[in-house]
Amino acid sequence: MVLAQLGEKISCALQKMRNSTVVDEGVLNECINEINRELIIADVDYQLLSNMVNRIKEAVVHRPVGHNKRIAIEQAVFKELFKMLDPGKPSFTPEKGKTSVVILVGLQGSGKTTTCTKYAYYYKKKGFKPALVCADTFRACALDQLSKMHKKPRSLSLEGARFYTVIDPVEVAVEGVELFKKETRDLIIVDTSGRHKQDNDLFEELRQLSEATKPDLVIFVMDSSIGKAAFSQARAFKQSVAVGAVIVTKMDGHAKGGGALSAIAATKSPVIFIGNGERVDDFEDFDVDRFVRRLLG
Ligand code: GDP
Repeated sequence: MVLAQLGEKISCALQKMRNSTVVDEGVLNECINEINRELIIADVDYQLLSNMVNRIKEAVVHRPVGHNKRIAIEQAVFKELFKMLDPGKPSFTPEKGKTSVVILVGLQGSGKTTTCTKYAYYYKKKGFKPALVCADTFRACALDQLSKMHKKPRSLSLEGARFYTVIDPVEVAVEGVELFKKETRDLIIVDTSGRHKQDNDLFEELRQLSEATKPDLVIFVMDSSIGKAAFSQARAFKQSVAVGAVIVTKMDGHAKGGGALSAIAATKSPVIFIGNGERVDDFEDFDVDRFVRRLLG
């Protein structure tokens, strides 16, 4: 099941329709069929797809031939993508003064460690007292990266955040979380290890780590450029731990982020933030509207 580069393909179909001098029934049907075909190739759930195509058809069928249909179909496609990107289930949100444990998971290189610091900084600015636990014992330099990122030139200070690490990842996570709970930190963020590819040891480690720390939220971190692999990657993580939200990184690059649709479909969880750079404040709230416009742009 893959929703690869879906946005780009749909965008192409819409562009073709926009470029037609007259938008008659033939052009409309071709556009809808093309979108339909892309969604089938992308392996969207059949029922979801047939309902979606019916709704798009319905939105345009009673309009007079011409310009209105062009706008109507674009609006209908926009609305449907909007719905796909908004699973309607808000993610857990940390509350100031109340201890929350948040675990970040994802493949190595997805931007997890960077995102941990961005997430901590985002909430620090809101008055939280964040703490970071480095349970990435697989990658030796992860702690170093976590603790030094805020000291980089042009980075913003995470002063006041604390860091913790030992050897066994589950032990690290449990002890770190306990330590910071005693310190009444209200946001405890656990950075976990990744691997270059999905492997059973990683998933077993995450399962144990999650069971031992009982997080309030597990966030799946995905690189916006992973394309075809997004669905299987997100699903594999969801099968091991209770992923409740997604963060899409590297949106400052060329990728339009179509893989986010896959991650949402696979995890049934909303995207909550976008990473758009390497600095600690290159991080923004996810805006469905802006994201769909980018996908179709
Ligand atoms: P991890 O292995 O999942 O912990 O990934 P890292 O946090 O080490 O990030 C891998 C690389 O991606 C590093 O070079 C980061 O600076 C870079 N990176 C992370 N997030 C972003 C982002 O939003 N934009 C860009 N351009 N680079 C990013």
